[in-house]
Amino acid sequence: METGESFNNGHAVVIGGSIAGLLAGRVLINHFDKVSIIERDYFPETPAERKGIPQSTQLHILLTRGQQILEDLFPGLRDEIIAQGAVVLDMGRDVEWLSPFGWAKRFDSGFEALSFTRPILDWLIHHRLQAFANLHFIEGGYVTGLINSADGTRVKGVKIKTNNQVGKQEVDLDADLVVDASGYGSYAGKWLNAIGYMAPEETFITAQIGYASRLYEIPSDFDADWKGVYMQAAPPERTSMGVLYPVEKNRWVVGVCDTTPGNRLIDESEFLENLRTLPSPIIYEAVKTAKPLTPIRRFQPPGNTLRHYEALKQLPECFVALGDSVCSFTPIYGQGMTVAALGVLQLEECLIEIKASGTLNGLTAKFQKRLAKINASPWIAATSQDAKYPSVKGITKQPTGAEKFIGWYMNQVMKLTTKNTQTTLTLFEVFHMLKSAGALFRPQIILQVLKQVLTERSDKISNQS
Ligand SMILES: Cc1cc2nc3c(=O)[nH]c(=O)nc-3n(C[C@H](O)[C@H](O)[C@H](O)COP(=O)(O)OP(=O)(O)OC[C@H]3O[C@@H](n4cnc5c(N)ncnc54)[C@H](O)[C@@H]3O)c2cc1C
Repeated sequence: METGESFNNGHAVVIGGSIAGLLAGRVLINHFDKVSIIERDYFPETPAERKGIPQSTQLHILLTRGQQILEDLFPGLRDEIIAQGAVVLDMGRDVEWLSPFGWAKRFDSGFEALSFTRPILDWLIHHRLQAFANLHFIEGGYVTGLINSADGTRVKGVKIKTNNQVGKQEVDLDADLVVDASGYGSYAGKWLNAIGYMAPEETFITAQIGYASRLYEIPSDFDADWKGVYMQAAPPERTSMGVLYPVEKNRWVVGVCDTTPGNRLIDESEFLENLRTLPSPIIYEAVKTAKPLTPIRRFQPPGNTLRHYEALKQLPECFVALGDSVCSFTPIYGQGMTVAALGVLQLEECLIEIKASGTLNGLTAKFQKRLAKINASPWIAATSQDAKYPSVKGITKQPTGAEKFIGWYMNQVMKLTTKNTQTTLTLFEVFHMLKSAGALFRPQIILQVLKQVLTERSDKISNQS
């Protein structure tokens, strides 16, 4: 198919079979006759970690907005996740949340989140996609470059090195649309260079937060009024945080994040010591005699990386990039998979609009511009938090007066969680991307903030007198 013809019967190729690639595959089968997902790994037969997604050993929270999108794309997926043993948490009732301002008041929130290990999600989605006759997986296929059209205006395929049943070979695969979902380590910039285009510029901001996590068996005599614990860092003073969440098969995933240089956290005593010295020893007390089921796994994510495809003056038609390949975040805010899912929905929206024109011309620029808008809010959320860490690198400008005010206001809102459950519920909705941050500026919350500030002032005055 040449650009300019109807694309409704073509072939779409997706590079990468992790969350962004799998979800992209799901929407592309609505628009193309054939979809191929090329993955350098082999997909496991049962839920299991794999080399291409090294971060899957670490705690992965699926935000509620992400869960909703997945449910729309794969009806019944929530029940399947639960059938795999995921724990259903009421975030207000079941999770002890310690913010820099104290413990949040616990309450029956009705705000549900599923807690499970990451391999379950990829495995279930991969399994679902196998049911589509027009979707093919090329496993053990490593994409090494893009192929452009004779006139150089569009991408018309990919170069693949395979090492699979067919043997070792290098093949060209024709495509009417190529989607790069190859993650943070994507070589798409280099591939674009090789066919005569510029690579996108990158913005990189990192607080250099390292992760360590371990699975434990939940002791049979464990008896507490909570199921999970989330202890936030309080930068710049305290940069370590701890989490404990129950996951399938009666296990806890216990994680520690810190920015201390050289703190490798992989040593048993260091890991436990880090848990013990968090502002509350609640996680330490729970796990100190529990049976560890895995070694301590360390992961040092690179930080926030934004590749500015939207700013490129020229891009080849019939090529788009999404997921971590375009924007990846410091993971402690749990946004990656949900933002990837939002990007995939946007791809579908752009395809539907473009379909009306009958060609794929313009899809690339339209999609990358809209994706940049989607990435903007979670990017600000992650980088403005990272900016509080003394270890942060990449911040090039000081916050404006308005940004400082928003930071102050957000702290006040966070403080309200220690006493006002309605505010906590709104925060859950914002954190889980169901509502925009504007919801925190509702009159009721502004009033609570003012009341809190005035009470603190009058307490201070009466303490001084
Ligand atoms: C420590 C850590 C914790 C995280 N916690 C959370 C969390 O709690 N919640 C959340 O939502 N997100 C979290 N994330 C982010 C989340 O893991 C990613 O956002 C998500 O996996 C993005 O998926 P992706 O498909 O874009 O890329 P990736 O998951 O990186 O997948 C890329 C895929 O492409 C394949 N590939 C790469 N190159 C090629 C090639 N040339 N040819 C063929 N195949 C290729 C890889 O094998 C891989 O399968 C976390 C990340 C880290 C690092």
